[in-house]
Amino acid sequence: MAPPLPAHEALQQLALSCAACRRCGLAEGRQQVVVSRGNPAARLMLIGEGPGAQEDLAGLPFVGRSGQLLDQLLAAAGLDSQSEAYVCNVVKCRPPDNRKPTAVEMAACRPWLEQQIALVDPLVIGLVGATALEAVLGIRGGITRLRGQWRAGDQDNLNLGGLQGRWLMPLLHPSYLLRNPSQAEGSPRWHTVRDLAELRRRLLDPSLG
Ligand code: SF4
Repeated sequence: MAPPLPAHEALQQLALSCAACRRCGLAEGRQQVVVSRGNPAARLMLIGEGPGAQEDLAGLPFVGRSGQLLDQLLAAAGLDSQSEAYVCNVVKCRPPDNRKPTAVEMAACRPWLEQQIALVDPLVIGLVGATALEAVLGIRGGITRLRGQWRAGDQDNLNLGGLQGRWLMPLLHPSYLLRNPSQAEGSPRWHTVRDLAELRRRLLDPSLG
């Protein structure tokens, strides 16, 4: 039997497999399959909902206005989005009119996300927005209440496998922050920079509680 591929080669293979994927109806309207950007060796993974129009054209996640804001907020928290994070989405193809992906579409794309998590092997996962929280942990609603709270990955998690030993945190989606631009103390942006700094704190010292 051939030995398993190194993780970076396996991720390249995964990207090729995703590019040919037609497991769900989102394949019909896509320009490109959007798999990831950033560093595959990063210990931080950020998972968003799905590609928008600009991501669909560029073939990269979080490159539109939301992505630019995400990069700025990461930088404000001391994190570089290209070298210190691996960024991906729950679904790899753009839902029409930027609607939320359906449960069927999220389930169809789940094996790709599970493979990404297994190959990147992140210590910390940021769940960017309510759809990522729902898809990964099965929690519907409550993102503004749950943001910033650590969740220990559970081997019995029914929505997504391979989370044991990892730390997960729900985060507000940058598209929400674009609609709420205040940076005043206590604002959603203010909280998000602190949440991202808390991600960094655990990355720097995983023994911290
Ligand atoms: S969204 Fe995921 S499952 Fe659906 S066609 Fe694209 S890659 Fe395949």
